[in-house]
Amino acid sequence: MAVVDPLIELRDVNKHYGQLHVLQDINLTVGRGEVVVVIGPSGSGKSTLCRTMNRLETIESGTITIDGEPLPEEGKGLAALRADVGMVFQSFNLFAHRTVLANVSLAPVKVRGRKREEADRRSRLLLDRVGLASQADKYPAQLSGGQQQRVAIARALAMEPKVMLFDEPTSALDPEMINEVLEVMQQLARDGMTMVVVTHEMGFARSAANRVVFMADGRIVEDRSPEDFFTHPESERAKDFLSKIL
Ligand code: ADP
Ligand code: MG
Repeated sequence: MAVVDPLIELRDVNKHYGQLHVLQDINLTVGRGEVVVVIGPSGSGKSTLCRTMNRLETIESGTITIDGEPLPEEGKGLAALRADVGMVFQSFNLFAHRTVLANVSLAPVKVRGRKREEADRRSRLLLDRVGLASQADKYPAQLSGGQQQRVAIARALAMEPKVMLFDEPTSALDPEMINEVLEVMQQLARDGMTMVVVTHEMGFARSAANRVVFMADGRIVEDRSPEDFFTHPESERAKDFLSKIL
């Protein structure tokens, strides 16, 4: 689909793991302020796609640009890129021996060089935004899974990223905690954040996504509006996938 103001562009991206062609001729543009939901069967390459976008994975051919800048190979540019591309994983990966507040403030102090007091002040605002203002002085283990994932979102936001990548952020959560995380993500979307979200939460895809990208076997098979995708999937792969999950 045509995108007005591209923030992320992948052109002819290819990657193998040994014999496995995990990303095949991927072309994807994410516009500024857009929410793109990526869905597809397990093993189709969704996580690998996310990980290439902040250079946790290298690619063999093709180009990736973020806000007009090609992804750096290594070195200092990479740290700057990672600061621009926030990532939230299925496992929250919080630092167990630091408080919630310290988890959120750590990277702004270490990577952005912010003063501790200023970082903490901003972190408290972010914790308020994800509904956790009162939990700032607790340790991760004292929080529920849903709360921990909201801390992970605040921590990613603390770097003021240009885009947020979410890789199955609710898959490890008990059912009753899924909505509190999705609501934070919905609010982020309404606030205009550019987001790429791998999820099996079709309600979120329908309500928050500008586009749905369906992957199968390392390829983007469909790239459509949620309404088109859910009501008229074109490919057999997508029809088959939807028949199993809806
Ligand atoms: P998805 O997130 O859609 O489930 P992944 O991107 O995690 O898919 O994986 C795509 C394919 O690549 C799978 O077959 C997986 O087993 C394989 N794969 C993922 N990471 C690695 C790796 N580090 N080394 C080898 N194979 C991998
Ligand atoms: Mg995955």
